[in-house]
Amino acid sequence: NTFAEIDLGEALNLNIQRCKYVKPTPVQRNAIPILAAGRDLMACAQTGSGKTAAFCFPIISGIMKDQHIERPHGVRGVYPLAVILSPTRELACQIHDEARKFSYQTGVKVVVAYGGTPVNQQIRELERGVDILVATPGRLNDLLERGRVSLQMVRFLALDEADRMLDMGFEPQIRKIVQQMDMPPPGVRQTMLFSATFPREIQRLASDFLSNYIFLAV
Ligand code: AMP
Repeated sequence: NTFAEIDLGEALNLNIQRCKYVKPTPVQRNAIPILAAGRDLMACAQTGSGKTAAFCFPIISGIMKDQHIERPHGVRGVYPLAVILSPTRELACQIHDEARKFSYQTGVKVVVAYGGTPVNQQIRELERGVDILVATPGRLNDLLERGRVSLQMVRFLALDEADRMLDMGFEPQIRKIVQQMDMPPPGVRQTMLFSATFPREIQRLASDFLSNYIFLAV
């Protein structure tokens, strides 16, 4: 089992080789083909399992195919094609690093936004272009309320460490964010939820946000 067997696109496969990821981890081996086929996914994954690449690779690959999509531009915000939500600034930065490493020379632009730092700098960075936005729920809501980001074009949504986000009280923000993605024009959104545990609240999120999803426990 190798990454090359999964058709992720030439540029991404090159980056995978360059970063010396030779063998997919179990969560990658199982999740990547499901996501590459366009299915929604709820996956059980711990830190260190390689879950970041499991959702980043299909997103990068999908966006490489979607880059021709015409996006409105102007004062009412920028239009990412993918959003990755993370509970903390540290995790958001780790995901950003991983996503950026693997989008090298693909033309896919990754930006991270988190709280506790001046928002204006992040707004300026977003305005220089964004395909994949990695964000903490609080800061993304702030950007939405300021009208500086539009989620109208989002094709891919990943929720990482969903149980931790709920423990931290982010459920209302997450729901507000996803609501913005459900506004017209109706697009086709692929949603992936990663969590270490599956209490009732996570199952409820999954049934509200995912459609016809596959549950993966490795
Ligand atoms: P994660 O669980 O996503 O935080 O990943 C844990 C660590 O494993 C990170 O440092 C990754 O860079 C590394 N990693 C993930 N997938 C692979 C792979 N297939 N081969 C080698 N290293 C990997």
